[in-house]
Amino acid sequence: NGGQKIHRTEHTLEPAGNSAQQVAEHYNTRRELGIEGRLHTKITGLRLFNNWVKSILIQKHTFRGCKVLDLGCGKGGDLRKWSIARIGEYVGMDIAQVSVAQAQKRYSETTNARFPARFFSQDCYGEPLTKTIQPADYRADVISAQFCLHYAFETERKARQMMRNVSEHLADDGVFICTIPNANWLMKKLRATCEAPEAASTSLAFGNTVYHVEFAKREPVSVYGFAYAFTLDEAVEDCTEYLVHMPSFVALAAEHGLELLYCTGFHDFYSQQIGERQNYELFQRMRVVDESRPQISADEWEAIGVYLAVAFRKARK
Ligand code: SAM
Repeated sequence: NGGQKIHRTEHTLEPAGNSAQQVAEHYNTRRELGIEGRLHTKITGLRLFNNWVKSILIQKHTFRGCKVLDLGCGKGGDLRKWSIARIGEYVGMDIAQVSVAQAQKRYSETTNARFPARFFSQDCYGEPLTKTIQPADYRADVISAQFCLHYAFETERKARQMMRNVSEHLADDGVFICTIPNANWLMKKLRATCEAPEAASTSLAFGNTVYHVEFAKREPVSVYGFAYAFTLDEAVEDCTEYLVHMPSFVALAAEHGLELLYCTGFHDFYSQQIGERQNYELFQRMRVVDESRPQISADEWEAIGVYLAVAFRKARK
């Protein structure tokens, strides 16, 4: 959730220059809050909830000793989750060099990370992964892309390169897991905003005390590149993201030999998963709801609705 700074004129969101580089710069300059700092923000509950969702995805789709490729790994926030899943090998990639260095540091400090790991700084959507990763026929059992895949939907060319990268480096029967913004949810909100009788006729913005979304246009003119500016308290500020048109994503994945397993909004994901004893216990252990803090606020809960949990499987040839 984040991206390059945008130049805003009246209802235009123009990517300013080389967008991939600006995404990198945005994340390279993000303030590191540290574990303590992250426990005391307006979105602490939301962050913990998102981590709970990722933990479940990881637990569900990994097996002991599996090889993992983490595209858009950021600062390595999921390393502990991979470690708990007892994976066999890890490759983390991200376009932001500073984040990659932080991930590498976190790996060396994660004493229970018993798996070997490699880290690369590279654009995972604009170029083939073989630019950095060796051997060229490297294959992972699980490819993960958490809260980052929407940047690939800026253009069809990037989305295709991203999909080619995933398909080429995923083993047969391997699983591709990701969390992405829910385009339907965002479009419904946008239409409701435009149609609200009290809304200024030009308003293309909505949100609450923790998040803010502003579109440039009322309707997409193309499947790719439908931009909005996104702000999430303490995490992202006024950055350009792109809607992921799910039918096009599923079709593109199918073209590359991947079939959709599920695509579930975070609210429904919660309803489906919390009833499983180990997921409930994990929810408690991760202190998603904790007596020392206020409960997840209504505004956080609404913002949680922005996201989808998605999984694909690569068919055997
Ligand atoms: N996956 C991590 C997590 O869940 O904590 C980080 C998520 S962060 C919101 C989004 C990440 O996507 C950033 O670290 C950003 O640098 C990365 N990213 C954006 N565009 C990318 C690209 N073209 N190639 C690789 N990484 C990219």
